[in-house]
Amino acid sequence: EWCDAAGDGDLLLASPRSFCAGVERAIQIVERALDRYGAPVYVRRQVVHNAHVVHRLEAMGAVFVAEVDEIPRGATTVLAAHGVAPAVREAARARELRVVDATCPLVMKVHSEVKRYTGRGDTVFLIGHADHEEVEGTVGEAPDRIVVVEDAEAAAQVRVPDGTGVAYAMQTTLAVDEAEEIAAVLRARFPSIAGPRHDDICYATTNRQRAVTKVAQEADLVLVVGSVNSSNSQRLVEVARRRGTRARLVDDVSEVDLRWLAGARRIGITAGASAPPDLVAELVRCLRGVGRSTVTEHAEAEEDLVFTLPREVS
Ligand code: SF4
Repeated sequence: EWCDAAGDGDLLLASPRSFCAGVERAIQIVERALDRYGAPVYVRRQVVHNAHVVHRLEAMGAVFVAEVDEIPRGATTVLAAHGVAPAVREAARARELRVVDATCPLVMKVHSEVKRYTGRGDTVFLIGHADHEEVEGTVGEAPDRIVVVEDAEAAAQVRVPDGTGVAYAMQTTLAVDEAEEIAAVLRARFPSIAGPRHDDICYATTNRQRAVTKVAQEADLVLVVGSVNSSNSQRLVEVARRRGTRARLVDDVSEVDLRWLAGARRIGITAGASAPPDLVAELVRCLRGVGRSTVTEHAEAEEDLVFTLPREVS
């Protein structure tokens, strides 16, 4: 057992961590759809970006596909939490699928903003990662009028035909400080630019970043539980590293490399919004089993948000 060599020291648990309201809702939607309509329930893309969640739902009868054209006509289909382009909804309609939409309401909010801006003729700068599924979905609202801006350099160079009819929006799972830096470049270049009052980064991403910042200041190593394709988990690693602390992303305890623990008196622990809490508990149990005896929790915020379920499964 790798646990035997993990050494002694303290564990600092960042809080909040792990599941957010949008992820809880999306998982519940798949479970309830299976319950109500029976297996198989098709799910377009990973319902949330976590390997463990996907495997568990697969074992229950969910079938994950890349596109709706892989789904038999009329079948029950869940659309993932990151949202989809209108073209995907149309394709689902054309196939007469019974669609249950697990798009997070906070992603829907960004879609609405973008639609409002592009509807009045604005060009929208969407701050985010072009290859992320959420961004693909949002861009799909008006592909000709939305320009993805990935970093401050791109924000400084991007060109538009009319600098007065511009707006910006964001992917919900960015690093708060980086996104703000990019938005500041855009605001300086386009003084009349429209945008969100604060930012579009969701409460869960913001809270998890604040919490990991606090823990990273005191820890020698930060372990982030999450999958590699989880944007908000990746950002937690980066935020910790920007505080000068070593940080690693692990899907679960089995991926922890013993060598990382050497010399780390204090280990900070957190988890992305799509990572199940039982994986964190397992990691803590394992580290405690070998002398990481003190477990301290750093609570940065309370979360009690719960989203209602779509009527098809409520
Ligand atoms: Fe919604 Fe934020 Fe959770 Fe994404 S991370 S599902 S936007 S609450």
